[in-house]
Amino acid sequence: MKLLEERIRKDGVIKEGNVVKVDSFLNHQMDVELFLEMAKEFKSKFASHNINKILTIESSGIGIAAIAGLEFGVPVVFAKKSKSINIDGDMYTAEVESFTHKCKNQVIVSKKFLSADDRVLIIDDFLANGCALQGLISIVNESGGTVEGIGIAIEKGFQSGGRTIRNLGFHLESLAIIDSMDAATQNVEFRQQE
Ligand code: 5GP
Repeated sequence: MKLLEERIRKDGVIKEGNVVKVDSFLNHQMDVELFLEMAKEFKSKFASHNINKILTIESSGIGIAAIAGLEFGVPVVFAKKSKSINIDGDMYTAEVESFTHKCKNQVIVSKKFLSADDRVLIIDDFLANGCALQGLISIVNESGGTVEGIGIAIEKGFQSGGRTIRNLGFHLESLAIIDSMDAATQNVEFRQQE
C-alpha cells in the first residue's frame, strides 16, 4: 500500500536491532485517517471471506483493528496481556514472546467473546518472527472458530514470521513489507506487491 510505504519512509525511524519506530502515526500517536485507508485495503483484500469478528492483541493492534471493525461492521476483540498465573476456565490462553520487550506474556481472551461460530480476521501492527500471530491463531483454534485471514500493517520480510505463517497455509496480507532496512542510512526497501 503506497500510502503506508510513503509514510514509513517519511516518518518511520529505523533503529538498531531490526526495529522500526512508527510511533508518530501508528502505535502511539495514531493517524486515524491513515487507519481508515488501511481498513479499506483490508476490506478489499479479505472481501471473499465473510469475516464476522476481528481479533488483535493489546496494545498497538487495537487502534488499527478498531477502525477495521468499523469498515467490516463486525465486533473487535483484543487479547489481553495478563500477569496472573491462575486464570480461571473462562479464558482462552496462549503464551507470546514479545519481540520488542524480549519477555514472555500470557495473553487471554474471554470465552464469551470468541466461539466456534466465529470467522476471524486477525489484525496486528507488525509481523516480525510471528510469535504474536502464533498465539492469536492458537486462541482461535482453541475456540473452535476459524482463522479466515491475517492482516498486518508492516511486515518485516527479512524476519521469519511471514514465511512461517504463509507456509502454514494462512491467507496473510501485509500492507507494507520491508525487505531490508538500515539504521545507519535510514534506507528502507519495500517488496513489490501487486
Ligand atoms: P512477532 O511476534 O511477529 O515477533 O512481533 C510482532 C509484535 O512485536 C507486534 O505486535 C509488535 O507490537 C512488535 N514489533 C515487532 N517488530 C516491531 C518493530 O520493528 N517496531 C515496533 N514498533 N514493534 C514491533
